[in-house]
Amino acid sequence: MSTTSTAQDASNGGGNGRQPHARARRVLMFPLPFQGHINPMLQLADVLHGRGLAVTILHYTGFRNTLDPALRPEFGFVAVPDGVPADVVASGNVVSMIVAMNTTMEASVAFRDVLAAELGLAGERMPRAACLFVDSSLFGAQKAAEELGLPTIALRTGSAACFNCILAYPMLHQNGYLPPEESQLDMPVKELPPLRVRDLFLSSRADHDMLSKFLAKATHAARSYSALVLNTFEALETDELEKIRDEIGIAMVLATGPLHRLSSKTEDTAGRSSNVLPHEDHTCIEWLDTQITGSVLYVSVGSLACMDSGELSEVAWGLANSGQPFLWVVRQDLVPGSDGPCLPKGFDDMVMGRGRVTPWAPQQEVLAHRAVGGFWTHNGWNSTLESVAEGCPMICRPQFADQMMNARYVDAVWGIGFELEGELERNKIGEAILKLMKGSEGEAMRKRAGELKKKVASCFESGGSSLLAINELIDHVSSL
Ligand code: UDP
Repeated sequence: MSTTSTAQDASNGGGNGRQPHARARRVLMFPLPFQGHINPMLQLADVLHGRGLAVTILHYTGFRNTLDPALRPEFGFVAVPDGVPADVVASGNVVSMIVAMNTTMEASVAFRDVLAAELGLAGERMPRAACLFVDSSLFGAQKAAEELGLPTIALRTGSAACFNCILAYPMLHQNGYLPPEESQLDMPVKELPPLRVRDLFLSSRADHDMLSKFLAKATHAARSYSALVLNTFEALETDELEKIRDEIGIAMVLATGPLHRLSSKTEDTAGRSSNVLPHEDHTCIEWLDTQITGSVLYVSVGSLACMDSGELSEVAWGLANSGQPFLWVVRQDLVPGSDGPCLPKGFDDMVMGRGRVTPWAPQQEVLAHRAVGGFWTHNGWNSTLESVAEGCPMICRPQFADQMMNARYVDAVWGIGFELEGELERNKIGEAILKLMKGSEGEAMRKRAGELKKKVASCFESGGSSLLAINELIDHVSSL
């Protein structure tokens, strides 16, 4: 990776994006300001930068996950006005926030002005911007880029199966699967096997009208991208990728994942806290060093999923009673409406030495640790893919968005985990933990996960599918 001096500029006032260096071409990259979207975009940025491209990150600054340019001096940073009303941000409703971001981009020229200013910088000090990489949820950016003659490449941070679901959204309505009826939740969606109605990326709480409009626009924009990059890999979602290629009508659909494996930053401890959110607690790695190989259950529900205080208590006792070592990520905002999560009385004493609770873990490092033998996850796509990459079997506890369909694939397609269904109850939790960590079914899942891990490794060997996809992407950007 180049060590071209950009630190001075980026730390100088936090991101004016001016990168005086000899790189011949620059890409603009615009992530959605949520952890599960920022991570893969920055990983892709690392890869592109490592291949000689200058990178300028366009970013929203009014959200919890605001990027700190000082932590990534190799990139330029440019703040973008988001226009999301404060009450929408305060509501924590992710879909409403994304809708507001896109509405603002469509309705105002502010984003186009930012792009135009960046394009205007091409000259001696700044390489020409060849294209805009945009999170596929920020489709409003595509129109502004098109108006300025700037090609857009979309990064989808979810699975290929999820994108097929988005493409199929009108059909899912027409054929009566959505909005979901309580009585039909177990009905198979025969057009999208192995999904059932309950796996479609929306709970009955979703505003289906708003989503229909939102996804129709996302699909429309997707057909105009210069290329579509997905954080998945060919051997994992062969049929799903083929379906996208058949349906989307753009020439270049590239599966470059798992991106965290391609990004050299993720092998560099200093780069691990490269983005944001709570400080990663590296002491839990030292604790893992003291544990028996394959014995620890890692428990995390990602950056957004929550539980109520009753559920927190059931999980705590389920973990404690299981007798199994565990590392549990309990975020400060895990229990909404409280002053912070409160673990039950007596829990600490009962799990002393065997259980560890942390507000935020270096997850990729944790999953790669020899002591970790299982992952209780909410099945955000990044967590799912990170677990796949490390051959770690899963207890799936999905909550919303694409998490249910990711869990379905873990269970019914890849056979590397199972879903913990119904209410969270300590005895059921204890049984699930023992099934994964000690039982023969868990062992079979671990074996299959180990096979998938080998496939991940081969994606990055010479001639591997993800490496070839990255090469193709670099050639494409160079041709723009
Ligand atoms: N993550 C982490 N430490 C934690 C929990 C999560 O670094 O303690 C990272 C995890 O490695 C993943 C991201 O946060 O890259 C979560 O993304 P995901 O798509 O799994 O879920 P989301 O947070 O978007 O629901």
